[in-house]
Amino acid sequence: MLGFRCLQVCLATAAGLLVLVSGQAFAQVCPGHPDAIGTSRTIVVDPAEHPRVGTMQYEETLPLRDHEVVLTFDDGPLPPNTEKILDILASQCVKATFFMIGEVAQAHPDLAKRVRDEGHTIGTHSQTHPLSFQRMPIDQVAKQVDDGIASVTTALGDQGGPAPFFRIPGLLRSPAVDDYLAGHHLMTWSADFLADDWRHISSGRVVNLAMTRLEAKGKGILLLHDIHERTVAALPTILHDLKARNFHIVQIVPATADRPKTPTDPSEWHMRPQAWLATSRWPAVRSFAFASEGATEVAGVADLGVVNDKGNVIVSDAEIRSAPRQKIPLPSAAPWPRELSAPAPASPSQLAAPAEQLFRIGFGPDQPQKAVISPPPPISSGRAESASPSTDYTTSDREAMNELVRDTLAVH
Ligand SMILES: [Zn+2]
Repeated sequence: MLGFRCLQVCLATAAGLLVLVSGQAFAQVCPGHPDAIGTSRTIVVDPAEHPRVGTMQYEETLPLRDHEVVLTFDDGPLPPNTEKILDILASQCVKATFFMIGEVAQAHPDLAKRVRDEGHTIGTHSQTHPLSFQRMPIDQVAKQVDDGIASVTTALGDQGGPAPFFRIPGLLRSPAVDDYLAGHHLMTWSADFLADDWRHISSGRVVNLAMTRLEAKGKGILLLHDIHERTVAALPTILHDLKARNFHIVQIVPATADRPKTPTDPSEWHMRPQAWLATSRWPAVRSFAFASEGATEVAGVADLGVVNDKGNVIVSDAEIRSAPRQKIPLPSAAPWPRELSAPAPASPSQLAAPAEQLFRIGFGPDQPQKAVISPPPPISSGRAESASPSTDYTTSDREAMNELVRDTLAVH
């Protein structure tokens, strides 16, 4: 008896501990915000192995599982909207990646530091954001990239510089730009989907575009901007909807000497696994099982399933309705119409057939590629008379039509 009581107490204590432990674990996800989406995991990537990501422009994307999302914010850090974005992300314990413009970070170093200090990843986005990377001489590209990194590094101070992640302004890539960035050990980030938050659209539209495009791909990198009011207005709803639809936020950080890359399979860097692509190709049938002649059975009426007690196939609605429902789940009435009544076709004599001469086109040896349209005959009865008030073509009308047809049929 004592042992039984001990068992009861021990079980109760264990259960209490479990609740406590799980409660603590949950609280650690986002203290004070039990409904927050949080950040589900961090992936460490090596830019040298995967220099370009984002299926909008490149073959590979980040090695995300289904329903995993990486949030990215471009063009900051700029008060007050970057501050509001940071507040929203903090309230949801979400970690994102900020692609900063060099001269903007230079102007707001404290805000750049705040982004870093709150645990977000910082990449760079050129020095002045010129929308001409795809046609700039490579030395200008190099200056934009290097100056941007230098400015953000200076703004961040001694506590740690930006990650070797770069996003090309306007995503205006070129092979030369891609090569330059990869050659300088930078990981070029395109995106998997946009939410058009730089356009003059409502915040509701931003939410709608983000969620629709994300649902279509199932996972990926979302490109947003932390400098726009509409993005600030849209972000809480995006995070709410992401959680409601069972999406998870993932943070990406670069590998370092003391932080090894997350082990991944090459196929994980594709939006769809290679095996999925291979098996999706049609036809997928590889082998057939052939029955020997005479071995196949012909289905009997009973195999149709709709038979009454006498073994007869049920055909009428009444019999179908009276059939035992536990045997055959049937609708109360056939959804397909059993009978159609169609009006009798009109007599052919009532329809005005177009005269053959309307379509007379001459292609004889004496008039190559020359088409001739004759005026239609006058219509003498029926509605067609009032619908065709003008049947008197002038000579110039006919010439114009002939000209038109001749041009249309011209063969060289
Ligand atoms: Zn930008």
